[in-house]
This record gives sequence, structure tokens and C-alpha cells, in this order.
Amino acid sequence: MQTDHQSSKGATRLLAGTGKLLTRSTDLCSALKGLASLATSEFADFCILELTETELPQHIIVAHRDPEKLNFVQKWREDWLNIWGDGKGPLQVTKSCKSEIYSHVSLMALKKDLGRLKSSSQGFNVKSVMIVPLLATGHVYGTITFGALSKRKFHKCDLSVAEEMGRQGGMAIANSRLYKIAKVAEANAAEGKELFRTLSETLPQLVWTAFPDGRLDYFNSRWEEYCGYKPKDNPRFWKSIIHPDHLEPMYKKWHHSLITGTLYEYILPIKDRNGNYVWHLSRGFPTKDTQGNVMKWFGACTNIDSQKREEGRIQKLQDLTSALSRAVTQNEIGDALLRRIVNLPGTKVAALGLCKLNGDKVELATAFYEPHKKKVQILLPKEVSLTDPDPLCLCIKGKKKIVLESKSATLSKFPRLRDIGSLCVLPLIFQSRTLGALAIHFDTEGKVSDETQAFLNAVIHLTSQALERARLFESELHLRHRAEENEQRLKFLALASTILSENLDHEKTLKNIVAHAVPYFCDGCFVDLVNDDGQIDRIAASYYDSKQEQILFDFVNAHENLYKSPTSQVLATGESLLMDLEEATNLEFVAQGRPDILEMVKSLNPKSIIMVRLGPKEKPIGVMSFFTSVSCRVFNSEDVSLAEELGRRATMAIENARLYAQAREAVKMRDEFLSIASHELKTPLTSICLQLQLVKRNKELQGSENLLKAFDVFDSQSTRLSKLIDSLLDISLIQSGRLSLDLELLDLSEMVLQVVNRLPMVNRPQLDLQQGVKGYWDRSRLDQVVMNLVSNAIKYGNNKPTKISVGSTGSTAFISVQDFGMGIAKHDQSRIFDRFQRAVSDRRTWGMGLGLYIAKQIIDSHKGVIRLKSQIGKGSIFTVELPKDTMSIVRSNPMDDVSLSLH
Ligand code: ADP
Repeated sequence: MQTDHQSSKGATRLLAGTGKLLTRSTDLCSALKGLASLATSEFADFCILELTETELPQHIIVAHRDPEKLNFVQKWREDWLNIWGDGKGPLQVTKSCKSEIYSHVSLMALKKDLGRLKSSSQGFNVKSVMIVPLLATGHVYGTITFGALSKRKFHKCDLSVAEEMGRQGGMAIANSRLYKIAKVAEANAAEGKELFRTLSETLPQLVWTAFPDGRLDYFNSRWEEYCGYKPKDNPRFWKSIIHPDHLEPMYKKWHHSLITGTLYEYILPIKDRNGNYVWHLSRGFPTKDTQGNVMKWFGACTNIDSQKREEGRIQKLQDLTSALSRAVTQNEIGDALLRRIVNLPGTKVAALGLCKLNGDKVELATAFYEPHKKKVQILLPKEVSLTDPDPLCLCIKGKKKIVLESKSATLSKFPRLRDIGSLCVLPLIFQSRTLGALAIHFDTEGKVSDETQAFLNAVIHLTSQALERARLFESELHLRHRAEENEQRLKFLALASTILSENLDHEKTLKNIVAHAVPYFCDGCFVDLVNDDGQIDRIAASYYDSKQEQILFDFVNAHENLYKSPTSQVLATGESLLMDLEEATNLEFVAQGRPDILEMVKSLNPKSIIMVRLGPKEKPIGVMSFFTSVSCRVFNSEDVSLAEELGRRATMAIENARLYAQAREAVKMRDEFLSIASHELKTPLTSICLQLQLVKRNKELQGSENLLKAFDVFDSQSTRLSKLIDSLLDISLIQSGRLSLDLELLDLSEMVLQVVNRLPMVNRPQLDLQQGVKGYWDRSRLDQVVMNLVSNAIKYGNNKPTKISVGSTGSTAFISVQDFGMGIAKHDQSRIFDRFQRAVSDRRTWGMGLGLYIAKQIIDSHKGVIRLKSQIGKGSIFTVELPKDTMSIVRSNPMDDVSLSLH
């Protein structure tokens, strides 16, 4: 089915085509047939021309889009001749000279002939009919009936196209008559002169005759009616009535016709008695003798003003159609429309109101023509409430056009509108939805002509379609933007979460977040934290233009009245803030009445801001703020949700950082305590041990068996206590990174042998010692490691023999200590190298779970490894692997925290 837009374009094409056809054709019959077939090509499904007075053989010309159906049309016409009753149909149109339109034929069917109508309508379902007069200079030459079948119906805008076709057809008939009269006069030269004059007086056209050389000899009386005086009374007649722009080209044409003896034809504006220029088609026919010499010129000027104006309107509509098709947004459409409307002659102001999406606001754009600058001035759209007493709002609300034809009527309805003649306001409606309205203020008062109204109807029709298209486009664009924004938000949240989890220094982390928020989420961002004194510190700020970033810090320093500021409000209430900073009151709130701050804030050109709290609602610890400026983004509730989520995650990160710092502090204090305590314990214990040795060697006590036993117990317990204190001392050294190595060239087997020799005979392990395994290692620390591994092998070895091997492969030396005792479960095997970790709960095997931890730290600082192979019930093998050249390895890594002291 054809769209309205297509049909309007078709009408434009049709009228242009009809004009061309009729002005070029001299044979009236074929011209009218051509008109009928043109009408049925796109505009109507069928067409009937009925001529009231004609010399043509046919009175009726019928056309149908499908030539096979011509007889249906004939039959329908005959049926309807009876059905059109009094006051309706082609006869009435001829009489009254007024067009008729029936959009729904079935509704207006006369009741008495309903049965007949049904029979005629069988297979020929006529939906809509228009009848227009064939009209020229006030004379009706017949009618044209246009019919539409079931697929489409005629609207008012179609009627104006049909009427224009009627006018063009009428004009063609009038011209043909004139031509005929001239021909008759030519044939009967003698009495023809008189006959011609008589006939020419009956014609509606302005008629003249001229001698072969062009001198005028006769004007019919219509001239006097038209100009207000007899042409002969004015020696400079042509010059005074023809528009000055057309004088020269007209004379050129006339001169050419005089020389060649060919038909003269020119379209020009001729001034009427009121001083208005009216478009005329001026034609001159030469009559010739048998030798072909021109004897006389017969000429006539036919009023084609409405046709010409229609052509102008069509051109303007075409121009508007193409401008609207280029416009993409509603603003562009408004601009294209207003520029063209305000340029129409007699228009003072044009205004366009477009309904906003929420429905209670109208966006108003106004255009003026500035004659002195010769350009159109369009005022920026402003928003008004639909209840505003503005003609546009009233028209939108009422969905009806408003036409006020006098100054007083306009003033009494709209007192604000002064110096306005007539006013015409038309609603822009698309599929019963009101999109807005168009208002035209005319210079002068008086009736807005039917032609202008028809033209404006076509304009608003085109505009409504273009607006609807733009709305769809804009809403699609809006949805796409929202999807992109959401994606951007999620990306930013993911990035922020990564940043928050990466670092345990909360200030560093917040600075990082603030830096990444721009431009991902906003154009500027800052974080304020409440310090221990209850003051606010701005700990991080970022702005898209880094040169202006400092303003964000200056602003908080200058901001003394913090207790009233937006930041303190968020701190006090715990509620987020979303503010439009283009609103003066909000800017005032931010600036707290301080002009210097206001200047600072304004220099950042902020548009929208979100402020969210950090910390729990009951006790916020700070505020995180995000604002937009250069991007012109306006934050919405979804942005607030994102900002709040970010605030929650940042709060968690700050809390974690605080807990971590506290825990570190506690561990540090404990290690310090351990270090001091073990030092303090070691000194008295050493002196107690010495005293015990002295007492034990006292001869007087040698005989006292019991006392000696008691001393043995003292001895073993103080040795354990001493070992424990040694371990604690080592731990505190390791924790504080003060464990240092005294590297020396060492023979590993020799060193192991020395350890073994300190053991009681009964516990001594089986040895497999390779000779010459040497390297740079710390003697006493490796001694400590071996002693620990051997002691464990004895302790957990179920009294079974143990074994120590020493050897080397390439640049690596190894010591392995094996037992065949209880073994270690798989799940315990890595854990036992950590502090205070034990795999036994047996109270009989004494231990603190520190030995393997210290051993591993010592091996690590030698850049070696300690491995364990064990099976429950079958025993364990601990293997220590050491690089032979520990010294160069440790040195090659200057960052290493092991301090070296070389012998
Ligand atoms: P401690 O022996 O003082 O408990 P260690 O750090 O030396 O502390 O050892 C940690 C734990 O590893 C021991 O408690 C024990 O459960 C297990 N373990 C160490 N060596 C052996 C071994 N040779 N056989 C079985 N278990 C062992």
C-alpha cells in the first residue's frame, strides 16, 4: 500500500506533469485524455471528465488505471447519476463551482438507492470520491470526478491537488476556445473582424490585436476592468503594467515572433487595478495570407496566477521534503521547517512546539525573519509547561487547529501577542499522537486563504512524518547510548574492584581509583576522608584537564564552612547526593555564598555531581565525589547506584587496609617483645647454668645420690629452657630480617661428624659421608640445621637406627637424614615447615614446632632447599640441598635481605 509520504510526492509530480502536458498541447481532446490518464497513473484509480459546453466530439472522457475496467466506470457513472440527489454530484459542482469530497462513499449513500448502489458496487468497490470543477477565470467548463477503490481513500490534502488539476484543465479548455475563435476570424477576414470583436468581448481573457509590425490596434473591455483604465489612454501602457523584471525578456520574445511570424508565448506578471501583480500566460497567434505573410496578430492574456502559485507551493513543498529527508534529529527538522515557513510571503514569525517525552512539557523554538540582515534568526529552544497560555500549548492540548483572523481576536485570546495580524496554529499529529504544533503569525490581518491553509496542511503532514522518524531514530540512539554507558559502567566497576583488591595501602588505592574514574565514569573525581581531628582531608583528586586539577585541592582548603557543605551533609546523613550543577541554587550550595569558591567551581564548568559516603552509614569515614563537565553527561539514578557500589567496595578496601595495618603492628610488637624477653631470659639462665655446674662439681656433694639426681634434672631442664630461648631469639631475628650468615669455606662431612660426635653413643646414626664436599656456608647455622634434623630423627624414629649421608652432584651439595620411625602424613608434610606447626599431638615428644621452621629459613638464606620424603609408619628422609658457591649467589642478588659477614 502507498504511504502518505509517497502519495504527497506523487501529487507534486502529478501537478508538475499536468501543467507541462496542457501548456504544450494544442489539441484539446488529446490534452484532456492525457490529463485523465495522468490522474489515474498514481493519484486516483479512475477519473471522469464531464464537459458542459464543448465543440469536442466527446462530452465525457473516462480513464481507469486498468483499461479493461473502463466499462465498470461508465456503469458506475450512470448508476450514480441517479443516486447523486439534489445538491450533490457533478451537476451541483458545475452550478455552485464548489468541489465535493466523500472520504467514505458508503456512508453518504442515499438511503433510497441503497439497493442499487450495492448492485453497481459489485466487483467495483468505490471507497472514496472527489468532484472538482474545470474552472478558468471564474467560468466552469465541466467537472472531473476522481475515484479511489478499496485500497485507499482521499483526504483533504488530495482535494487541493484535484482542484488544481481542475483549474489546469479549465485553463486548457479556455485557451483552446480562444485559439478556435482566432482561427475563425482568420478564415473570414472581412466580417471576421466584427465577429472576432463580438466574440472576444464574451471571453474571460484579456484580448488584444496588433498590426503585422506589432503596433497594437485593439484591446477588449476586460482590460479596462482589469487595469481600471482604457489601455489606449496610456501611451506607455505595457511598460506601466508589466513587472519591470519581465519587460526586456518579453520584448525579445515578441520581437522574435514578429520576425519569424511564429506563435508568441510568454508568462509574466501583469499589474491589476489594485497594484497587485497577477501571473498571466500571454499568447499571440499570427493570421497569414495565402503567401504566408502575417496579416494580423490576435493575442490574449490568460490569468494563470493560481496555477503559478500552486507551482510555487509545490516547489516549496519539494524543497521542504528534501530538507526534511536530510534532517536526522528533531532539532534539525525544526530548523529546516522554521527557516522555510518564516520565508513565506506575509509571515512575521514562525514557532514550533514539540512535546517532550514526559508529556507535560513543550520545547519551543521560534524563528523571525530579519529583513535588514536578510536572514532568518532562530531562537534557541526553551522548555515551557503545557499549561502555559501560549497558542502552541493550547493547540497541543486541544489537538485542534486555531485560526484567528484579526488583530483584536488574537489580542483578546493571547494578550502577550502584540503587532500580529492573523494567527494560524496547526497540531502535528502522527497516528493520533500529538507530537507538537506549528504556529504562523502573519503580518496582516484577514482570512488565511484556502490555498495557504492547504499548503500548511501538506507541510504539517510532511513534518509529522519526519518528526516521528526522528523520534524513532533518537530513541534508538538513546537506547544504544544507554547500553554503551552500562557496559562502560560495568567495565569501570570491574577495573575499580581489581585496583581495590591489589593494594593494602588505602591512600594509594583511592588515588588509583580516582585516576581511573576519569574519563571512564566522569570528568572529575575527588575523595575526602575525615582525619583523627574530625577535619576533612582531600586525599585524592583527578580532573580530565590535569592543569586544572589543583583547583580541586584549593577548593577544599578554601572551603571553611564545611559543616554546611554538601560533603558534610553526606557525612551527617550517610545519604548519597545527586545534583544538577547547572542549577544556580545547587552551585550556591556548593559555594556556600563565597564568591571566590563560586568562581573556582564555575571555572570547572560542572554539569552534574554524585557524592557517596565511604564507611558505614552510622559512622561515615569520608565522601567520594564524581562530577561531569566537558562530556556534558548528566548523571542518572543508575550512575548513583554504580557510585554507591564503588563506595561500598572502597569502604571494604579501606577497612581491610586498616585491619592489615593493625595486625602488622601487633605482630611487630609481639616480635619485639619476644626479642627483648629472650635476651633478658638468656642472661640469668646462663648464670644459673654456670652456678649449677659449679655446685655439681663440689666434692662435698659427691656422696649425696639424691642431690646429684636433682641437679641432673635442673641441668636437663635448664638446657631445654636455653634451647627454647635460642629458638625464640632466632625467630625474632628472622621476623625482623636480621638473620645474618657468616660464610666460610666449609667441609660438610667434617661438620656433620662434629655434630654426630656431640651425641650420646647410643643415639649416633649410621654415616655415609663423601669426602671433600666443600662450599661457602655458615658453619654454626648448618650445625644447628643438622642437629635439629638428627634430633627429630631420634625423637620420632621409634628407637630405630638413623642414617646421615653427605654428598654432592655438580654444583650442589646435599645432606640427608633418614629414620625408620613414625613417618609424616602427606597432608602435614608442607605445613611442618611453618612456625609452631607440629604433626604430633603426643605430649611425650616435647617440642614447640619451631625447629624445622628455623632450619628452612637458614637453608633459604643459603639459597638452598629442604625436601621431605615420608610415609606413615615407614620413616622419613629430610634432604638439604645447598649451592656450593652460596657466596656468589647471595651477592648476585643485592636486594636480598640477608646480611653477610665474611671471614
Ligand atoms: P618439634 O620437633 O619441636 O615439634 P620441628 O619443627 O622440629 O618441631 O618439627 C615439627 C614437627 O614435624 C614435629 O612436631 C613432628 O610432628 C614432625 N617431625 C619432624 N621430624 C620428624 C621425623 N623425623 N619423623 C616424624 N615426624 C617428624
